[in-house]
Amino acid sequence: MTVFFSDRINRIKPSPTMEVTSRARELKAQGKDVIGLGAGEPDFDTPQHIKEAAIDAINKGQTKYTAVDGTPELKKAISIKFKKDNNLDYSLDQISVGTGGKQILYNALLATINTGDEVLIPAPYWVSYPDMVLLADGVPKIINTKVENSFKLTPDSIEKNINTKTKWLIFNSPSNPTGITYSKNEIYQISEVLEKYPNVWIMSDDIYEKIVYDKFEFSTIAQVNPKLINRTLTVNGVSKAYAMTGWRIGYAGGPSSLIKAMAKIQSQSTSNPSSISQAAALSALTSNDDFLSERNNAFLKRRNLIIEIINSSYGLECKHPEGAFYIFPSCEKLFGSTAPDGSKISNSNDFSKYLLESKGVAVVSGTAFGMNGYFRISYATSEETLTDAGDRIKAACAALK
Ligand code: PLP
Repeated sequence: MTVFFSDRINRIKPSPTMEVTSRARELKAQGKDVIGLGAGEPDFDTPQHIKEAAIDAINKGQTKYTAVDGTPELKKAISIKFKKDNNLDYSLDQISVGTGGKQILYNALLATINTGDEVLIPAPYWVSYPDMVLLADGVPKIINTKVENSFKLTPDSIEKNINTKTKWLIFNSPSNPTGITYSKNEIYQISEVLEKYPNVWIMSDDIYEKIVYDKFEFSTIAQVNPKLINRTLTVNGVSKAYAMTGWRIGYAGGPSSLIKAMAKIQSQSTSNPSSISQAAALSALTSNDDFLSERNNAFLKRRNLIIEIINSSYGLECKHPEGAFYIFPSCEKLFGSTAPDGSKISNSNDFSKYLLESKGVAVVSGTAFGMNGYFRISYATSEETLTDAGDRIKAACAALK
């Protein structure tokens, strides 16, 4: 039989976080009592004024094609946002708007990677980075971080992994899956190493910028070290901050040559992101966003609640991250134990499966993020649900022998 599918498609796997969410949904549909802690999105609703801006756009007939990589109005609002929040000067030709941060990242990789080019990705990583690099015919070069360093990249580890094929470093703070954040000083130290390698570009994924706690002050690399601005793509979006995951709007600021190349790809694939979603994103970026601190306070309470239960569970351990809505506890101490049904827990996949099958709690195994020994909990759900889920996890751990 002739092979129908491309090598490209065989290189990648479906997004494991989406898989867990749909498996939990499936079990729920079968009538099982399942709590999903796998989803990477806020449980809050999109604020009313943003929805109204979208309805207005429909009523005003803003339902046609727009400029490929975003309306001038939205680009202007993004330019103002970059200046106000990050002290970055991006003109409109240095801004790209796409269908989610995901498309922005993918466009940038497709526009720059030649076969065999390497992309440095710190692990644990967001699930899509390595597969996006593979789709672009590149080579993901994983840099393992250590829990002792709070899963942070060290300047030394970057330097050890750079070679003549290195095209990009992907940098993500606050991080998915760990929630950890880099201070201004830590970012500066990393930037000093990168200064020495003018052929290496930096993809700064700032999508969780607005979801931070404990008075943490967010910084992004092009702001901390302006010498790198000509080879940095500063990626952001409205999905997480404004609870707009379904609207699919992401954006980036970067050198105009790269922005132009990204637009070329978008023009031959999806064209403009939804005109209605762009109007909604414009409202998100230009309206009062006082509601963010209220939502962050709710997230903070949930974070503390779930960490307390996790740290009081047999064999589990977790630190307090300062951003996003994830925790990444260790379950390594449970490896080698036996579940009540006789099955062995030998890795994070076994442990996650055990939680789902025995207690109906869906978490994502650390292996999905390139790190066995851990699992990810998304705490973007009510305190009541988190307490229930936490108690079930605690009981599941206590039942291991
Ligand atoms: N970057 C990170 C680290 C993420 O966690 C996500 C979503 O889960 C994205 C980018 C993409 O977000 P979106 O495409 O919804 O804008």
